[in-house]
Amino acid sequence: MKRCSFDCLYCSLGLREEKTVERRVSVFPERVERELREALREVEAEVITFCGLGEPTLAGNLGELIGAVRKVSDLPVAVLTNSSLMESAEVRKELTLADVVKGKLDAEAEERFVKINRPHPSLQWRKVVEGIGEFRKEFGGEFAVEVMVTPHNLEACGGIAEVLRAIGPDEVQVNTPLRPSPVRPLRREELERVLGSFEGMRVRWVYGEEKPEVRRRVGFCRLRLLKRDEF
Ligand code: SF4
Repeated sequence: MKRCSFDCLYCSLGLREEKTVERRVSVFPERVERELREALREVEAEVITFCGLGEPTLAGNLGELIGAVRKVSDLPVAVLTNSSLMESAEVRKELTLADVVKGKLDAEAEERFVKINRPHPSLQWRKVVEGIGEFRKEFGGEFAVEVMVTPHNLEACGGIAEVLRAIGPDEVQVNTPLRPSPVRPLRREELERVLGSFEGMRVRWVYGEEKPEVRRRVGFCRLRLLKRDEF
């Protein structure tokens, strides 16, 4: 079940009108430590990533969970976030414990933010952008921002790029929903046309990347091991 502060039009986890900004503890660090130790016996990993079924910063103990991972492994820790809670100093502090953070910005203004990300009513585009900017200043690790481009924000890429240029992430990742999604992904040539908007920034785009080689897959038994209880 998705637990998120957004309900993006393109979400591959399915649409869910109920959204939350309430941070709470749903997994204890001891469990992460134990299960990760077991999983790493079977999996060759390059990075340990917090993502999951929704927004990872809704975990009220994210900082502790990152600490639990550090006890088990020297691998870099990444967090994929929709940036919505970056306006909170507490959330930003916990995120700085990671080595890599990937945020998200799909809109250049409030109206499109509401249309595409369908956020919790307490969230405002301007505050989210300010939060991303603050985080950029505070974080010494690798900071990327993903822009998920769909037919709904194709013409907004110039505006989004302008906002990101002022923030200065290390990298911009131009993406389109290639996983099963209620929204049609852009074709390669459509997405390629917006790349010019991001000129001057380090850009990666989904059609320009080679599929990484996965050396060892996790079977269903292991996935069950990693499955979390109901949030
Ligand atoms: S932020 Fe991610 S998990 Fe949340 S609704 Fe959007 S796509 Fe889905």
